[in-house]
Amino acid sequence: MSNKKGFTSTILHSDRNLKPEFGALHQPVHTSVTWGYEDVKGLLDVFQNKAGGFAYSRQGNPTVIALEHKITQMEQGMATVAFSTGMAAITSVMLALVKAGDHIIASKFLFGNTRNILHTFSDMGVEISYVDATSVENVEAVYKENTRIVFVETIANPGTQIADLERIGSFSREKSILYIVDNTMSSPYLFRPVLVGAGLVINSLTKYIGGHGDALGGSVTDTGLFRWSDYANITETMRLQIKPELLGITQIRKRGLRDGGGTLSPEAAHSISVGSETIALRLDRICSNAMRVALFLQSLSGVKEVNYPGLVGHPEHTLASKLFKSYGGLMSFVLEEGIDSITFLNKLQLIIKSSNLGENRTLAIPVAQTIFHELGAARRAEMGIDESLIRLSVGIEDIQDLLDDLGQALA
Ligand SMILES: *Cc1c(COP(=O)(O)O)cnc(C)c1O
Repeated sequence: MSNKKGFTSTILHSDRNLKPEFGALHQPVHTSVTWGYEDVKGLLDVFQNKAGGFAYSRQGNPTVIALEHKITQMEQGMATVAFSTGMAAITSVMLALVKAGDHIIASKFLFGNTRNILHTFSDMGVEISYVDATSVENVEAVYKENTRIVFVETIANPGTQIADLERIGSFSREKSILYIVDNTMSSPYLFRPVLVGAGLVINSLTKYIGGHGDALGGSVTDTGLFRWSDYANITETMRLQIKPELLGITQIRKRGLRDGGGTLSPEAAHSISVGSETIALRLDRICSNAMRVALFLQSLSGVKEVNYPGLVGHPEHTLASKLFKSYGGLMSFVLEEGIDSITFLNKLQLIIKSSNLGENRTLAIPVAQTIFHELGAARRAEMGIDESLIRLSVGIEDIQDLLDDLGQALA
């Protein structure tokens, strides 16, 4: 089947095109840890990258590879490596590609755990500058000779700031720095970072791609845009053995996945793969629900402020309209002074008090007391996180039930 099919048709027929046994429509769950060969040459060829095939499931498994192939198509990339979680994907990319003495420019609105792991790398000698990535000028201002990577997210959590994605892409290309975009919040259905020049795209498969809150996973996709032969930290043996365009993804698979060990289980890969078949349907519903919820919250007298890129008053609304198919499922809001956010949350009956996001059910969480608790009040203030901020991840419920629940809780 040609590559020209639409987004959903491509995902639905991806496994079948890999021709699994008996005409199966799903890639089977291959539980074998290791792979045997009649002739030792088969094993040698796999080890020496002369043939595709499998040696040990920590670094490759047919069920996981089928999911990687699907994600590559969703992101219109060149190749993907899957990991046990989104955090394993991010940590492994850092382990594979960064050395002490390197400089990284990162958005200051990064997902909390991503910021934490960057702090750990800075303890090990990597220099990191955190900037307001909503404007490329802030990235340019901290650029140095040893800058290797710019790392941003599409839509920030919980503030929903949108990175200056296109202009940071142009700047990265001009300076030959690796541009990494975490696409989790928009997902490849709403946005493809390859279109703004990203070299690597990260996805937490746990969120919209899996979509059902029943499996953890993460991925790194090489878009094929970055010239890896120019990258300082490619090992000499890799340069001798691997084609230039495959240097990056191969080093991530070997030094990140194989040596780091954050392997996605075949069972989780299967759940994520099946979940991903409906990503377009789910996100159409999620985005339409989220828009209605944002407008409804904005209309309530007890609500002081709503952050959602779909609202005309959002600082990056125009940019979001230009770049994304729709505005996503994540928003945050602050209640008027005198209305206690915890009491409000406790009055919700349908919406679940929970820390996840990007799944079918609508989830709400008080931000300062939970996911940003560790930071302390001073850092929260610095980051513009209001002490009573509530984050909402909108799901696929019937819209009237969501509006009724929010309305009754505020009343
Ligand atoms: C959740 C999330 C991650 C981490 O993914 P896990 O699968 O939970 O490890 C990374 N980046 C963003 C933007 C996320 O929302």
